[in-house]
Amino acid sequence: MAHDHHTDALLSFLADSPTSFHATANLTAMLQEAGFVELVESDPWTDLKPGSYFIRRNQSSLLALVLTGEDPVRTGFRMVGCHTDSPGLKLKPGALHTGHGFVQLGVEVYGGPLLATWFDRDLSLAGRVVWQDSDGCLHTSLVNFERPVAMIPSLAIHLDREANKNKTINRQNDLVPVLMLEKESPTPLREILAAQLARQYPGSKPATVLDFDLFLVDCQPPAKIGLEEEFIVSARLDNLLSCHSAVRALVDTVPECNTMVILHDHEEVGSMTLAGAQGSFLSSILERILPGPGQRQAALKRSFFISSDNAHGVHPNFADKHDPHHLPRINRGPVLKSNAAQRYATDAVSAAFFRALCGMTDVPVQEFVMRSDMACGSTIGPLTSAALGVATVDVGVAQLAMHSIRELAGERDVWYLYQVMCSFLTLSTRNNLWRSLAA
Ligand SMILES: [Zn+2]
Repeated sequence: MAHDHHTDALLSFLADSPTSFHATANLTAMLQEAGFVELVESDPWTDLKPGSYFIRRNQSSLLALVLTGEDPVRTGFRMVGCHTDSPGLKLKPGALHTGHGFVQLGVEVYGGPLLATWFDRDLSLAGRVVWQDSDGCLHTSLVNFERPVAMIPSLAIHLDREANKNKTINRQNDLVPVLMLEKESPTPLREILAAQLARQYPGSKPATVLDFDLFLVDCQPPAKIGLEEEFIVSARLDNLLSCHSAVRALVDTVPECNTMVILHDHEEVGSMTLAGAQGSFLSSILERILPGPGQRQAALKRSFFISSDNAHGVHPNFADKHDPHHLPRINRGPVLKSNAAQRYATDAVSAAFFRALCGMTDVPVQEFVMRSDMACGSTIGPLTSAALGVATVDVGVAQLAMHSIRELAGERDVWYLYQVMCSFLTLSTRNNLWRSLAA
């Protein structure tokens, strides 16, 4: 795929993927278009023939698999992992309430968003709704209002003279979005959602909405910005940028080796869930592909896992927040992330492999390490590496405003990451770089 076209495809994917459910559905469509066949965990399949497959869990995690016919015990798996979720605001079960003439939505904070960025934005609602038809069957449908329906208005400066100093945000009281003005007989939220389902899926059965996983999402579409359009800005660049690159690389190349792209939900809340990286999704699929523990461990010892999640680029206004000798720049290539306490899984061997891969691809590479006097974040890399015993590198595109409602990354970096992933997937199993990994 050409450079410009790739960026535009990413931006439209971001616009169409307001939640992990939508991202998973859109990535699934990309795989299906490329001929990947769905397997479901509720079927007892084992002993797969060579081919291209995908498996979904919870509608929010996705594992794409290419089996080339080579024995994984001899040549291992190429693995790429990313996360589908992003920090934000999630509706509480009894979300609708009234006060002072307004109807408002009770929300919980999901993960660690920069809360100040959520004020005064045009917010929509998106997620999934579970409903029952007249025959008693349960169904799940994705919903996306795709229009501004709510806002969290700031308090005027005249009523808070300290607003520009030492501002704190109370998660219970200060973040409650305004949905509409109070009416005499307000429509219950479940009926509002049933009406939205009828709008989105005309002709479907009448729905009794029972439950929902819904998030507030920014309506502003992603964009290229900068005088020379060097930047892209959007919600959820962390980490849908990596998810898109990985799946695009998988569908645009013919992998040389048995390959897995694993996209997990719930990274932002610790990953210990049904669909998270500390759950059983990846390990249970590996057990089906290679039922013998000895075979599986041998294959994993010959495998390599790229954990791709965005990195902190140096911010020109806050450069002292970085180690002065590790200053990743926008549009200077993917960033190798390392940490002595192993909050990132990178070590000298995995870093060297990735560096060599970038060298082969003519892609520049940079390094990030946290300042020694600041705590370091983490990724799904160490979790996967520890659980499976697979060599892992943590990398990612440099970005600014991580966990803001609108994040910024470099347009060229998107292309670099995609190119490195394509190289990784197409590296021959006979290539000395690959062979030396398992030696
Ligand atoms: Zn992330």
